[in-house]
Amino acid sequence: MPFRHARPLVAEVSHSALQHNLAVVKQQAPYSRIWAVIKADGYGHGALRVADALPRADGLAMLEMETALALREDKETRPILLLEGVFNAEEWRLCAQHQLQATLHSEAQLRWLETQRLPAPVVVHVKINTGMNRLGFLPNQVTTVYQRLLASKQVADIRWLTHFANADHDAHDTLSVSQQLTAFDTALAGLPGLRSVSNSAAILRHAGHAADWVRPGIMLYGATPFADQSAAQCGLRPAMTLRSEIIAIQTLTPGQAVGYGSRFVATTETVIGVVACGYADGYPRHAPDGTPVAVANLPSRLLGRVSMDMLTIDLTAIPRPQIGMPVELWGQQVPIDAVAQAAGTIGYELMCAVAPRVDVVDVP
Ligand SMILES: *Cc1c(COP(=O)(O)O)cnc(C)c1O
Repeated sequence: MPFRHARPLVAEVSHSALQHNLAVVKQQAPYSRIWAVIKADGYGHGALRVADALPRADGLAMLEMETALALREDKETRPILLLEGVFNAEEWRLCAQHQLQATLHSEAQLRWLETQRLPAPVVVHVKINTGMNRLGFLPNQVTTVYQRLLASKQVADIRWLTHFANADHDAHDTLSVSQQLTAFDTALAGLPGLRSVSNSAAILRHAGHAADWVRPGIMLYGATPFADQSAAQCGLRPAMTLRSEIIAIQTLTPGQAVGYGSRFVATTETVIGVVACGYADGYPRHAPDGTPVAVANLPSRLLGRVSMDMLTIDLTAIPRPQIGMPVELWGQQVPIDAVAQAAGTIGYELMCAVAPRVDVVDVP
């Protein structure tokens, strides 16, 4: 048997939660095909695990070539889309060899394609910059790009995508979904090819605009893309539960403090539980006193600064506190978005930051 450490920190990934969340996507976009977005190692859940857990996703989208190749190595036969396309000329060859579809967003990528002799034609998704201003061709470049792709004779199919800047809120002073859709439709007037526009926020709030394919990420993992609507309110279930245990207990008398910087000072007798999880595991160091946590299925709160390998929580109101008591850092009882909000970030960042030293295990 290989050595297996006994440190109690583990991230459980629920296959039924992933499948439930995919069903929510299908409900919202019944006429679209679904790219399950599994970039950043499946938002920290394990890209191959998520691909396996979601046999009903129509395709898999990511931007890491190594994930795409690992999926093909693993006998994955569904379409795979590289969301940022190739990073050099040689990667077009890998796309052709392994049937990887690629986003095409820049003149450099187009030139690399035109100057390669590929072993097989590739499927290309042209990204149009409709106002996000990160990646993509401007609407007035679309016809030229289309003609150059046709002329290259190395393209099996030409498809189109764009990305929304503000699908998660309806402000009047920012670029809107409908402005971006108008720019997209106008740029593509009369051109054939499948289209894809929607991320999770658009799938949930702008369901009427789901095009041929949708691209859900965060909602599959059961966190919210919104500041004003929780995952539960969106009908989503948390896919990840980050669990650990109490490894030590301290009793503070009034005036005593816990941890670096003595950030928390007891005003009354306070029982502190030390939990095996720290910022080197991906727990946010900026989490303030009061950040929610659950211990033995009861709500509790962080007290004191998060250190590299440990954090400290309030056990004062917990009956018979003991070493070995289970602690949920986030998951079913403590929404990841609640921890994120307390720490001034978003659920996306926390799940992606779960460190390699944390064991990730499958649960039904
Ligand atoms: C990450 C990503 C998505 C998924 O976004 P979510 O907000 O996680 O749903 C969709 N499309 C593109 C191009 C992406 O990079």
